Amino acid sequence: MYRTHTNGELRINAVDKEVVLSGWVQKVRDKGFMIWVDLRDRYGITQLIFDEERTSKEVMQAASELSREYVIRVTGTVIERESKNPQLPTGDIEILVKELTVLNRSKTPPFTIEDETDGGEDLRMKYRYLDIRRTPIRENLILRHQVSMEVRNYLSQKDFIEVETPYLIKSTPEGARDFVVPSRMNKGQFYALPQSPQTFKQLLMVGGMDKYFQIVRCFRDEDLRADRQPEFTQIDCEMAFVTQEDILNTFEGLTKHLLKAIKGVEVSEFPRMTYEDAMRLYGNDKPDIRFGMQFGELNEAAKHRDFNVFNQAELIIGIAVPNGNSFSRKEIDALINWVKRPQVGAMGMVYVRCNEDGTFKSSVDKFYQEEDFAKWAEITGAKPNDLILILSGDTHKVRPQMSALRMHLGAQLGLRKKDEFAPLWVVDFPLLEWDEETGRYYAMHHPFTAPKAESIQLLESNPGAVKANAYDLVLNGNEIGGGSIRIHDKETQSEIFKFLGFSPEEARKQFGFLMDAFEFGSPPHGGIAFGLDRLAAILGGQESIRDFIAFPKNNAGRDVMIDAPAPLDEEQLKELNLNLQIDEADSSIPRH
Ligand code: ASP
Repeated sequence: MYRTHTNGELRINAVDKEVVLSGWVQKVRDKGFMIWVDLRDRYGITQLIFDEERTSKEVMQAASELSREYVIRVTGTVIERESKNPQLPTGDIEILVKELTVLNRSKTPPFTIEDETDGGEDLRMKYRYLDIRRTPIRENLILRHQVSMEVRNYLSQKDFIEVETPYLIKSTPEGARDFVVPSRMNKGQFYALPQSPQTFKQLLMVGGMDKYFQIVRCFRDEDLRADRQPEFTQIDCEMAFVTQEDILNTFEGLTKHLLKAIKGVEVSEFPRMTYEDAMRLYGNDKPDIRFGMQFGELNEAAKHRDFNVFNQAELIIGIAVPNGNSFSRKEIDALINWVKRPQVGAMGMVYVRCNEDGTFKSSVDKFYQEEDFAKWAEITGAKPNDLILILSGDTHKVRPQMSALRMHLGAQLGLRKKDEFAPLWVVDFPLLEWDEETGRYYAMHHPFTAPKAESIQLLESNPGAVKANAYDLVLNGNEIGGGSIRIHDKETQSEIFKFLGFSPEEARKQFGFLMDAFEFGSPPHGGIAFGLDRLAAILGGQESIRDFIAFPKNNAGRDVMIDAPAPLDEEQLKELNLNLQIDEADSSIPRH
């Protein structure tokens, strides 16, 4: 027998019990006549004691040879500790060891396996299995498991059925590149891995499944972006015979349930904001509404004086930093430098100090009067002792710049509180998005999203103004879910494909199966998908998703532990009919 109890289990009421425990050696303190060992497993830590007077010589000897991360089994008696450790649930007791078996030895681990580790990111990823032994990572994975379980239970109770959809498919456009898999049996042909199960879940609606969900892996070959993973997990959902309102209510219910079950937090009805308002007030379609500093547009109040920078700007935005008048000149300069960094890209920043006595002091005193500043204060909501910060320029540049500054200040002023949860529905997204580079429109969500009936007639005359039945769920400044009501008739779908630049032949080739299905009684339907990795991270109070994934990839899309991706050998390439031109000089592909 390996164990009668786990290492997190024993309490004072177990004193005098004979127990068997197994686990990893976390720490050894050897005083010669007495040796203490912290024994660890998933459930906790229990202290072992080896005592010259009460433990046999052989066991004493074996204990003195233990080292970090050895795997051992011990038999012994639970005794009350002389000096208790209130930090540890098992801290009132220890095990007086009678027998010790070393089940496996360990090399010295490359980093310390404790809550705070000396291991850098790369090292931790290379030895991820050791990293997983650390409490923070283990707890993240357990939290993720709890989220999945709560999602499954909640949705099944609401009559959703989990259905698996295939991984070896054809391209589903979600705006990224596909990962492809060569087919050996169909030479020269490739599967694509799903960017999402979008078309399949729609076909399940045509198939009458009515309410579907799936906790499912999705694959997107995107360029390096911080905190993105080439494979990630969605809670993917679809419902038939629903309006946007039904979907928002259903998934508001799920999100409330998760916040309650996982965090014990009760939230009232989620606020809703149009995409337009989100952009106007926060410069961002996923605003963090845990704090204020909404944008005030100052065009009317700041143009037509002698200040050319503002006169030439398309948009002038100000925000009021609460109590910002206490910032020193140096601190303000640091903020100005911060917005001028290439990552943000502002040309400069104007500031107005709102003094206690109602007067103002600004960096543009030469050009403006007190009543101008009073007006700006009114528009930005600045009170005495606040600081107004102002950026100006092209709308599509100045909004993201100000948004970045607002988030920066939010973090700096401690306004982005970890244990506060502020969900928000962003609705009424545009159907289409203009791309400067290629000079054409793309679907903002995906090409299956239904336009709002009242704006579809603008498709030819003013495509940018067509609104979609699309929505995002935002939590603390992160998009945690997004979806839409779908097109469910062939005519509209063909029209949208055509508008997006698909020839009828291309549309047929890529999505013929869906168009065919729409001709066999497709019900009205819509859905949403949540990012499980991100949701778990936010519920765990963290920004990065990486430590909520057991075996994540690094920023270059590599798994540094198993060393993937890797070249194929020539044999395999031939079998797959992949006649790659390999440059002899820099080829790393082994040859036989
Ligand atoms: N398939 C969409 C996505 O991955 C979600 C949806 O529309 O339901 O973003």
